[in-house]
Amino acid sequence: EQGPTAAQVDEYLSSKILHPYYGGDQSLEKTQTRANDNDIPQIQVSPLQGQFLSVLVKSINAERVLEIGTLAGYSTSFLSKALPSHGRIDTLELNPHHARVAQENFLESDLFPFPKIHIGPALDTLKKLKIPEEGPYDLVFIDANKDQILDYFLESLGLVRKGGVIVVDNAVRRGKIIPSAQNDPDTNVEGLRKLYDWIEKDKGETVLSTGIQTVGSKQWDGFVIATKLV
Ligand code: SAM
Repeated sequence: EQGPTAAQVDEYLSSKILHPYYGGDQSLEKTQTRANDNDIPQIQVSPLQGQFLSVLVKSINAERVLEIGTLAGYSTSFLSKALPSHGRIDTLELNPHHARVAQENFLESDLFPFPKIHIGPALDTLKKLKIPEEGPYDLVFIDANKDQILDYFLESLGLVRKGGVIVVDNAVRRGKIIPSAQNDPDTNVEGLRKLYDWIEKDKGETVLSTGIQTVGSKQWDGFVIATKLV
């Protein structure tokens, strides 16, 4: 007998858990509709994953958040909404079309703090970005191109506070991260393996990390979640 699918469970959990102001908000639907109307690829976090970001922001009392990979601003919305009004959120995006649609979404959703989009290759922006005057970032969400993940992770370590959190999305990729006999030329996977090799070599000196595999509406994937120890 076939039991329920992970996608059905995601639907059930969503119906019970999505918060009226976060994952259940109408402005979020509009955000996604505008993304679809503008032919933006549907590669945003799921509503429950987005709300996981909101939970993280609230639970560590984050005031400053850095996001790498804006797309149409879907995940940005969850991050911004969980911040206090005096907080700050910077989001990095390469594609000017994505950035324009995201900006429209932020305006329509009336987000506060209003996300600042930095258009350009994220690594260039990260190298220019300074620790905010108010203090380092509390949380970084890395969700852009995967081949440069280790660079993003290392730059983020320089911008986040001790005890701050770095979340890396798409860290499992249906299991393809495991080196296999047929050498997989997928640069996404190679980028992730570089991150795992770095974490292994760090031996828990700089970061305490975990890897969480996820299923659900977005199929088999996962997050790396790291907190800075020093
Ligand atoms: N975080 C978004 C969400 O959940 O709503 C999804 C981000 S999407 C998976 C990845 C984004 O990273 C795309 O919009 C893509 O244009 C952007 N991107 C790709 N390469 C980049 C780069 N080198 N620098 C900055 N952004 C990049």
